Amino acid sequence: MAPQRVFQLSGTCNNYPWGKQGKQSLAAQLCARTPGLDFTIEDDKYYSEMWFGDYPDFPARVLETGEPLADALKKDQETLLGKKVIEHYDAQLPFLPKILSIAKALPLQMHPNKELATKLHKQDSDQFSDPNHKPEIAVALSKFEVFAGFKPLADVQRIFTLPILSSYIPKDTSGDWSNETLREVTRKLLKADDVEVRSIEEKLQATSVSDLETVGAAHIAELLPRLQGQYGPGDAGSIVALTCMNFLTLDPLDAVYIPADGIHAYLSGNIVECMARSNNVLNVGFCPSADRNNVDLFANALTFKSHSKEDVMLPKQKSERSSTGKTEVYKPELSEFDMLIAGLKAGESDVIRAGEGPGVMIVTQGTGKMTANGQEFELKEGYIYFIAPGVETKWETETGMQIFEAVI
Ligand SMILES: [Zn+2]
Repeated sequence: MAPQRVFQLSGTCNNYPWGKQGKQSLAAQLCARTPGLDFTIEDDKYYSEMWFGDYPDFPARVLETGEPLADALKKDQETLLGKKVIEHYDAQLPFLPKILSIAKALPLQMHPNKELATKLHKQDSDQFSDPNHKPEIAVALSKFEVFAGFKPLADVQRIFTLPILSSYIPKDTSGDWSNETLREVTRKLLKADDVEVRSIEEKLQATSVSDLETVGAAHIAELLPRLQGQYGPGDAGSIVALTCMNFLTLDPLDAVYIPADGIHAYLSGNIVECMARSNNVLNVGFCPSADRNNVDLFANALTFKSHSKEDVMLPKQKSERSSTGKTEVYKPELSEFDMLIAGLKAGESDVIRAGEGPGVMIVTQGTGKMTANGQEFELKEGYIYFIAPGVETKWETETGMQIFEAVI
């Protein structure tokens, strides 16, 4: 029997302590809607992410058989992955889609570029499980708060005129800051011990709101107590995030793009996330000290591609694959994947032209149906499908429907 080219998948949820609790977690809710899946939401558990790619950690499975997606793909790579993925991406899905439900800050982190990831993977393959980079995008499904990239250098420099911070500026700094100044400031702050960080925090809290406003740091008054409430005082990550990084509040369907080596920490909200196929991360804050990576490794690897809120935002654009123009696309630069977004109103439909590579789609709102490969499929909130290369899909809805699809 020829393998099916379109089939339904189930995702796998994980339970990191930053996730939302019980039914408040969208990741858990969407997972629970998969028909026939043995998954019940427990009220006292935290549900952080649902993964639905072929990565072995929390794999998607073929719903009908329970077989891990990776195993199903191996059986007919030609049909299910196509030439491009076999030749360029090691015959594996080059993207990893997830739904995240964030109640408190994820670790302050970055994902090493390919060169560093290859080196770290060789040195310590337990901690760095693949040699790949991991640029990622996050699309908001609710209000989404995030620290991403660095602020413009002049803005950081102004905040560091606060007396309590000035001792973190390298001695030989004169005039305007450079990226290297910012690297050393980040390094020094991250190396500060618990007592030192607490003292900075106390002094920041004792600074009047008008003095904070004068240096463009009014956000510290509200955010510092919130972060302390999550990880306690004394976490150097919060000082770096509050003084050096962009803080953004996104509305639904706004998106951010985090390039390889980009610093980021997600703070709250529900998001669709998609990243290159990797699980490598360097954490330096918002986590227990035992989980933190080496600060010098982190500081040396930092790049400074994002230096403003605008640099971090990823606007959606018309998708060439949409025949009606109703489906748009987030197209991150220098990454292996795009993310289609269809927001269909009641009575609308769209035909998505066949792609060169495979796609993985999830319905995040509404109901409808899909016609693909001569078959009809039911679409409901939480339903996930694999679409082989060369397959055109038609999505229709009578009541309205929202679909995300990770594509090559
Ligand atoms: Zn990340």
